[in-house]
Amino acid sequence: MWVGQDKTEEEQLFRESIRRFVIETINPVTFDAKKDYKTTSRKLYRKAGERGILSLSIPQELGGQGGTAVLQGIAREEMGRGKVIGYGLPWPLSWTHVNFAEGCSGDLVKEWMPRFLNGEASLGLASTEPKSGSDVASIVANGVKKGDKYILNGEKGPMSSVSTTDAFIILARTGTNDAGARGVTAFFAEADRPGIEYYQLEAMEDSADLGGFRMNNLELSLDHVVGEEGKGFYQQMKAFDIERAIMPMAYLGATMDSLELSLEYAKNREVWGRPIATYEGVMFPLIEAVTKVESIRSFCYQVLRNYDERKRITKEAAMMRWYVTRVCLDALDACIQANGAQGYTDNVPHQRRYRWVRAGLFGHGTQEIQKLVIAREILGKEIYDQALGRK
Ligand SMILES: Cc1cc2nc3c(=O)[nH]c(=O)nc-3n(C[C@H](O)[C@H](O)[C@H](O)COP(=O)(O)OP(=O)(O)OC[C@H]3O[C@@H](n4cnc5c(N)ncnc54)[C@H](O)[C@@H]3O)c2cc1C
Repeated sequence: MWVGQDKTEEEQLFRESIRRFVIETINPVTFDAKKDYKTTSRKLYRKAGERGILSLSIPQELGGQGGTAVLQGIAREEMGRGKVIGYGLPWPLSWTHVNFAEGCSGDLVKEWMPRFLNGEASLGLASTEPKSGSDVASIVANGVKKGDKYILNGEKGPMSSVSTTDAFIILARTGTNDAGARGVTAFFAEADRPGIEYYQLEAMEDSADLGGFRMNNLELSLDHVVGEEGKGFYQQMKAFDIERAIMPMAYLGATMDSLELSLEYAKNREVWGRPIATYEGVMFPLIEAVTKVESIRSFCYQVLRNYDERKRITKEAAMMRWYVTRVCLDALDACIQANGAQGYTDNVPHQRRYRWVRAGLFGHGTQEIQKLVIAREILGKEIYDQALGRK
């Protein structure tokens, strides 16, 4: 039903191989997000590691495959189509891993990077704080250098996968408050270190594993500094464009699958003696959703191809991050409605997907922050700075 987006045989074969992996390895897995989320998602990570999915996004010189943005997009789309929803899935590794591998000392990287690549261990980013989310410049958790150590104090969260993560990149203030984002340093910290106290938060979707941690004199040796002191935020920002563009591809895959299932359901479910697909009230919202998903999907692949051709995609990636998420949410809502009460249950994947995709309006900057980025690209930095209250 969808317009083909693969331009080469390699892309086509890659899509088929990921689809097989999803059908054979991911779909048979059932798990209760509250009970066995950790063990099941860990098993999937190991399998994805063996299959080479985790390393797809990592440059070859760091032990990865250096896959193109388009291949990464295909992997996300196909995995999004699977029965297990996003949080438990072994996505290709993020920029945080590249940051760590490039910015940390040889020994730590030698010990941890192979484990991230083979799915044995996971790495999370701890940037957000209860009083500092969008405005990273206002981070207050701090790291103070004492002899050959840094001592970290403060709180991080909310963040996802908090109980399942084996190590974190923590952004903490090492400069003065006036230094804003320039006073923030990135640290690598093993999750089981003394001085970290975790807490969980009840969230819209259990498998988000949402929570945070408090650092009480968390001691880190100097080799745990990632990259340069005071550059932690900028190091992380370097890959914002591609990360913003890649994640929504998973939402597209999930939504395409939900639309296919819902159209089939509407053709077969009879009410008042005829299929509900014949009622415009059911047919039109689904068809409108297909129209929007189809058109935005072509845009997405074009943006990924532009990135592979080394074109700047800052504006388009921000557009993708919020608008694809919004289109997918509306489409999933239409799927829930077309399925009647079944749509509200776990018998169909639509409502869980809706709850997962909803978080997409926060990640890598909220939808409002994405719009500010687009405005900066179109209206210029002066207007952007004024919008943020800067002179
Ligand atoms: C499921 C989930 C997983 C997450 N995982 C992680 C993770 O792994 N690591 C991590 O560090 N964080 C994580 N986060 C946190 C996420 O990055 C933050 O929620 C996000 O950056 C927004 O910060 P905030 O929640 O503090 O909102 P705030 O920054 O307080 O913003 C509140 C509201 O005001 C709006 N707003 C703020 N400034 C402006 C402005 N200038 N103009 C217009 N509107 C504005 C925002 O868009 C938002 O709607 C996660 C969040 C969720 C929900």
